[in-house]
Amino acid sequence: MPQRRGTRRLVVGALALLALGYAAPVPAQPSDFEIAKKLRDAALKDEWGYRFLETLTTTIGPRLAATEAEARAAAWAESEMKKAGFDAVHRESITMPAWHRGREEAAVVSPSPQRLIVTALGGSVATPPDGIEAEIVLFRLYSELLAAAPGSLKGKIAVVTERMPRVMDGASYGALNPIRRLGPSEAAKRGAIAYLHRSLGTDNHRLAHAGATNYEGGITRIPAAALSNPDADQLERLAARGKVRLRVTLTPSVEDNAQSWTVSGEIRGSEKPDEIVLIGAHLDSWDLGTGAIDDGAGDAIVLAAARLIGKLAPHPRRTIRVVLFGAEEMNYAGPAYAKAHAEEVPRIALAAESDFGARKIYTLLAPQGAAKTPFTRTLADTVSPLGIFLNSAPALNSGDDIAPLRALGVPVIAFRQNGLDYFDIHHTADDTLDKVDPQELHQNIAAWAAMTYLAAQSDLDFRKLAADAKP
Ligand SMILES: [Zn+2]
Repeated sequence: MPQRRGTRRLVVGALALLALGYAAPVPAQPSDFEIAKKLRDAALKDEWGYRFLETLTTTIGPRLAATEAEARAAAWAESEMKKAGFDAVHRESITMPAWHRGREEAAVVSPSPQRLIVTALGGSVATPPDGIEAEIVLFRLYSELLAAAPGSLKGKIAVVTERMPRVMDGASYGALNPIRRLGPSEAAKRGAIAYLHRSLGTDNHRLAHAGATNYEGGITRIPAAALSNPDADQLERLAARGKVRLRVTLTPSVEDNAQSWTVSGEIRGSEKPDEIVLIGAHLDSWDLGTGAIDDGAGDAIVLAAARLIGKLAPHPRRTIRVVLFGAEEMNYAGPAYAKAHAEEVPRIALAAESDFGARKIYTLLAPQGAAKTPFTRTLADTVSPLGIFLNSAPALNSGDDIAPLRALGVPVIAFRQNGLDYFDIHHTADDTLDKVDPQELHQNIAAWAAMTYLAAQSDLDFRKLAADAKP
């Protein structure tokens, strides 16, 4: 505020000089680029985001969707957002079944009794209390399971051991996801009575990676779990030598009509408050770790970025809405949000989600059709000193919770982070705060602050640019 008053005084003074016949230059208002750079530099030094993440992972810890812990996280986040000065802070409920993990044990019964490390897939049904014992049929490739004849797995435990490759952008996770999402029903169609798969993870620790599965309607629901990578290797070696019998015991339970919560708040726009730039992350987590990289870091990044923008006077033109989705891991929040906010969709100018941990961002994907606009050029110049380059590819998605909005025509923008070790930790007991480097978190917050500010300050119609870009 004092700075602006000073500027106005200078302008008035300069006009007076001009009136007197002096050709003195008129000092300009700070440009969007200058403000974006200031936000970037302030974010690199701002401790608020890391503190938010530290408190979330310490005082709440694991936040499985629709549990008491997730509700506490939502109530706490709501109060933090109010304290941080956000407008219109509120919670929206999502009714869904709450899945609670029970005992999870697996062991080789023969030829050589030994324990195996497993974790039940989210949504899995239970085995009988004393477990299921059966011979395994092991497939080194998922496609080999799909090629197995109907009835060929009758009474057997199906095991898929295809390994997920380590790649920078994490694209192998999406590519291999059907092994976990669809594998149990595919095995059941062929007669299997239980399903195990090699964790979708790139580590070699004896930690299994959790994750949800989706049973196909009309197909018998069989118990399903993920094996740690070394345990999947062990089963491959044993199976190569002959018959292997396993006992698997999983005792999860389901509570119907439970509540998950999505929390949101706004930085109200100064000129076009009805137009919304929506940035999000998800507040729920798996229960084995404390959800630090997935996705407490994302919550901290989008909140801390928007909080810094909220300190500007005046606020940028468009409204910034921060949404902390509930129940992402079980796939309820995104569809529920798009449905509840359908009437607002035409007013959402741009959306983005941070849901890939806290490692450094290395590239920016501009909204479709917007690569050559002043908005993108200014943003690319602002984030270049952070080690981020403008990708030649446009952003076609930006997080699972945003996907249903995207499907309704909301344009998206995206950053990509170094994901080389993301899937070493993702959905395991190792997803804890020590895996987050505060400096790398700050780099993310700086990039998000610059992007969100410039998008909210921009006059561009991202929808029209995207429509014009389509062949
Ligand atoms: Zn996530």
